[in-house]
Amino acid sequence: MTDDPLANVFDDVVRRNPGEPEFHQAVSEVLTSIGPVLAKHPELARQRTIERICEPERQIIFRVPWVDDRGEIRINRGFRVEFNSALGPYKGGLRFHPSVNSGIVKFLGFEQTFKNALTGMPLGGGKGGADFDPKGRSDDEIMRFCQSLMTELYRHIGHYTDVPAGDIGVGTREIGYLFGQYKRITNRYESGALTGKGVDWGGALVRTEATGYGLALFAQEMLRVRNEALEGKTCVVSGSGNVAIYAIEKIHQLGGRVVACSDSTGYVHDPEGIDLDLLKSVKLDQRARMELYAAERGLVHASNNGSIWEIPCDVAFPCATQNELTLADARVLVDNGVSAVAEGANMPTSPDAIDLLMDAGVAFGPGKAANAGGVATSALEMQQNASRDAWSFEHTEARLTAIMKSIHDTCYAASEKYAKPGNYVAGANIVGFLRVSRAMVALGLI
Ligand code: NDP
Repeated sequence: MTDDPLANVFDDVVRRNPGEPEFHQAVSEVLTSIGPVLAKHPELARQRTIERICEPERQIIFRVPWVDDRGEIRINRGFRVEFNSALGPYKGGLRFHPSVNSGIVKFLGFEQTFKNALTGMPLGGGKGGADFDPKGRSDDEIMRFCQSLMTELYRHIGHYTDVPAGDIGVGTREIGYLFGQYKRITNRYESGALTGKGVDWGGALVRTEATGYGLALFAQEMLRVRNEALEGKTCVVSGSGNVAIYAIEKIHQLGGRVVACSDSTGYVHDPEGIDLDLLKSVKLDQRARMELYAAERGLVHASNNGSIWEIPCDVAFPCATQNELTLADARVLVDNGVSAVAEGANMPTSPDAIDLLMDAGVAFGPGKAANAGGVATSALEMQQNASRDAWSFEHTEARLTAIMKSIHDTCYAASEKYAKPGNYVAGANIVGFLRVSRAMVALGLI
């Protein structure tokens, strides 16, 4: 024990959650931000809200048996961590990736709790997934896997309880198979039990684009504070999945030029600007690798020698996975004159890289604020499901734009009040913490 209460909270989290470095990292980032808030609000310290927020309300781990196309039985592990429901039903995506384990799901659920609070919508936080690798699997295998996963998960979810959505490896196809099985088991067409649905069967326009669009809009707001704009800026976006593709689309609409993107096999530098139609055809229609994009454009495919962050840019958008932008990458970005970094992925920038970027005066948008457009639009999908309505693309995009501006402005205002103006990491953590904590206090000891 030390006489620093927040250091003691962290030690306790590490002791109770051994071998989960990503979860420790996510908690540590929040703890380093909230000291000034607890000093101003000792009642929250007395109520031990941060200690309670660090402990998930419920964790479910289960077996997912399924049969592959050769008739072999396969066994995966499924997870759902229901982190916090003070503000609303648990809400957060499902990730299918071989790296998924308890620590990864906990870090994502913890981040999600703060992110969802930042949207100002009635959403608690949760996350889930499985250590299943969808790469190279047939449609039938994906369907059987999703059906098996839902055969356990259905008893834990529901539109007033817990509402999963997509994440890495889980898009509209997977949500379709999951929703179909949920409907079949429960005998209810309960649209609000899952978001990210296809627009023909209860989904919302703009949900597919929302995280990437919202990210570009958040970056635009950060630049606006500095009397700059995305127009004319050279940008680099890592990844080439859902978040990356629609970030590129919105950056191009706002007049920026994205000159590189990647997948787990490497990156492509396309100095004339990414050809978005080709990228969508390669990644969304053909489910192929960046190598094919490079071949079609007559470019080099850099297969993991060097880093995408070596390509000079004004604005960087890490949109692939956690800890993909390291201290060495941040140094190169700063040396090349980057002016802003906005996180599309969850926790893609390592803590020492964040410090370096912020010390160098780079505008830094943390994922829990910058990528919150996806979950905010999921809440809009739930609103439409509840009222059996369907809004137009323009209306929904206008709502998303207003929400991203509000998240930006709220984080900025909190950074002015409690930290350094423009420290969005502190701003986002503080706003999220205050909203969740106050609800927890109001609801009694939960
Ligand atoms: P997708 O599965 O659609 O795309 C993920 C992309 O990142 C792919 O290009 C993938 O390459 C690459 N990638 C994944 N893991 C790795 C890895 N270990 N190393 C290198 N590249 C990797 O996922 P999303 O676009 O939905 O998610 C991307 C990030 O955004 C995640 O951090 C997610 O949590 C976050 N996020 C997503 C939201 C959403 O609405 N979808 C909302 C908020 C945050 P490959 O195909 O080769 O694996």
